[in-house]
Amino acid sequence: MKRRPRPFLAIILALSCSTLAGNALRELPSDREYPIVVRHIVDPRLPALSEAEFQDMLDRCREYIREYLGYNVSFFVQANQPLPDFRKEMKKLDDLPMMSTLKESLLNVESETDRTRLKDYIDKLVADTAESTLRRHVPDYGRFAGRKEIAAHIHEEYVENLRKIQGIRTADGTPLGAAPYADTLTYPFWDMALRHLEGAHFIFTNTIMADMELDIPIYVALRHGITTGLVEENRRNAFRAAGIIFTYPFLSKDGFFVLKRGREIPPEKLTDVIALYATHEFGHFLNHYRDYYDHEHCIMVPAHDLDYYGWYLDKKEKKCGLEHEKLRQF
Ligand SMILES: [Zn+2]
Ligand SMILES: [Zn+2]
Repeated sequence: MKRRPRPFLAIILALSCSTLAGNALRELPSDREYPIVVRHIVDPRLPALSEAEFQDMLDRCREYIREYLGYNVSFFVQANQPLPDFRKEMKKLDDLPMMSTLKESLLNVESETDRTRLKDYIDKLVADTAESTLRRHVPDYGRFAGRKEIAAHIHEEYVENLRKIQGIRTADGTPLGAAPYADTLTYPFWDMALRHLEGAHFIFTNTIMADMELDIPIYVALRHGITTGLVEENRRNAFRAAGIIFTYPFLSKDGFFVLKRGREIPPEKLTDVIALYATHEFGHFLNHYRDYYDHEHCIMVPAHDLDYYGWYLDKKEKKCGLEHEKLRQF
């Protein structure tokens, strides 16, 4: 669990490739230990875990992966990488056709046309969502007269909250979504970065993904476009996957996040809460589980809002005993 120099990491990657050969997403036997190379990408303007906290979080995550997912892993951590450097490293992806396709769904919250496009999309999304799902996930469901009102409320909250998030003042005085960082808050950037990531399997970063998009599920619309973690296909490594956890929603001291988290995470529990949330993403990465929304006390149910401590306590209380389907591809 110590930090290793890069040449050693290269050997680990090569070793894991030879033991995990094959093209499709296939079941990983649980009778061996999987080395996972972790990259810590740091936005220097935002709060971050210290080196000791980061290592403590990974140690806890390794234990939780064993306990909740049944896999033994060891983490190998690369040297911290500043976010602007990673942005430069990924610049080559900007011209790929898939990036253009992904960006077709990306909207600008400051554009009235785009806000109208989002409104039309959410109207349709809410109209097509089962009543039981709305009842379960829309806060104060009972106070809305109908679906039109629910859609209007989700749209209004989405736009208002996303503007607040993108406008948060960071340590150097620039807003969170300032030009050099704007892309690094978006789904197309991180989705493509994960698909093309080389030399590491999993990213932890102290920024956030918070953007305005079409073609999102109702759960993302209800969270105002915030995504805490993601696992995507990656054909460049033997796991055929790469994942990421965004820690800003846990670490931010900004009034918006303090308010939205509701119950504040006790400081001594911070690394444990992030570790358990990361375990959810490793449920995708290692077990190839999908997300669930209707299981009780289930590690594969993502947080519906920013009350991560509530989510954590619920998963610590007991575990889900239901079957979990395995995906053939992400
Ligand atoms: Zn998930
Ligand atoms: Zn479950």
